[in-house]
Amino acid sequence: MSALVDGFGRTVRYLRISVTDRCDFRCVYCMAEEMTFLPRAQLLTLEEIATLSQAFVELGVEKIRLTGGEPLVRQGVLTLVQKLGELEGLRELAMTTNGSGLVKHADALRQGGLDRLNISLDSLKPERFKALTRTGDLSQVIAGIRAARQAGFTSIKLNAVLLKGRNDDEILDLVSFARDEEVDISFIEEMSLGTISEHNRGETYLSSDAVRETIEQHHQLLPTTETSLGPSRYYRMPGSASRIGFISPHSHNFCDACNRVRVTAEGRLLLCLGNEDSVDLRAIMRRYPGDTHRLKATIVAAVTKKPERHYFTTDGEVQILRFMNATGG
Ligand code: SAM
Ligand code: SF4
Repeated sequence: MSALVDGFGRTVRYLRISVTDRCDFRCVYCMAEEMTFLPRAQLLTLEEIATLSQAFVELGVEKIRLTGGEPLVRQGVLTLVQKLGELEGLRELAMTTNGSGLVKHADALRQGGLDRLNISLDSLKPERFKALTRTGDLSQVIAGIRAARQAGFTSIKLNAVLLKGRNDDEILDLVSFARDEEVDISFIEEMSLGTISEHNRGETYLSSDAVRETIEQHHQLLPTTETSLGPSRYYRMPGSASRIGFISPHSHNFCDACNRVRVTAEGRLLLCLGNEDSVDLRAIMRRYPGDTHRLKATIVAAVTKKPERHYFTTDGEVQILRFMNATGG
């Protein structure tokens, strides 16, 4: 039984935690080229993240995803994975990563109890990949995807943010790659999180329906009701184990079924990706160390105020000032 029910009858079962706002990439849709990151003292410590996670699990959360920024650049994240992997009641521990650290860390993550990996991959062309991530090395990420499979991960999903005119000519290549590597892939509509000057988000918007039509010209897509507790709508392709997902914050509002909350790298509990309301859980933990009763009561009260929906628009207008790396994607 979950104690986390909001004012619209939705039960929160899924927590995403940003373990750092830092990253070794600077993806053009996610960050500005020059970023100022949080001073270390403002980040939740790993102990605080573990305390929070335990409180959420005791309140009924079944799935935790570690994200960022890039979670694998946070020192000690492997120890955190191990600790969370032991939480009784947690059904699934997942991570979203840009893949650059997987050659090094995939084995330890798997052994530490991580169940699921989402790996971001927006292009299969090395130069374009470099341009989109500003610093990334495609071959390292592809080697990382393979290292994850070798390490025994069976639930791997690629995430591709599609920008019209930038990488939408690679939709079918990305699908073929996912099929060849026997992994799932989700296509994501870009969201207006943070002010960027690199491109106009209104001009690069591409709807999931357009992406699906492109794929359907070559592959039959059979809708499924399968869910990973996240916002992806999944399709299966006959003759392949890979699933195709669509994350469509604009064209298919997924707020009705939202079961998620997020904790930012500084310990703010965000009740919705598209709203600024938050509750400072770090302040509670630092003012009342060891008082898990108070921490849990704060979380329960906060969840009752979860907003009904987000109000992203496709015109590129910024509604939310924080970047995705601060929020935890
Ligand atoms: N660094 C890790 C990564 O890239 O996978 C984890 C954090 S990243 C913020 C999580 C996901 O958010 C990535 O799949 C990324 O492509 C996506 N993302 C970042 N900014 C976005 C935006 N403005 N709109 C849509 N997706 C975005
Ligand atoms: Fe880093 Fe992920 Fe943002 Fe890219 S999307 S800059 S990899 S946090």
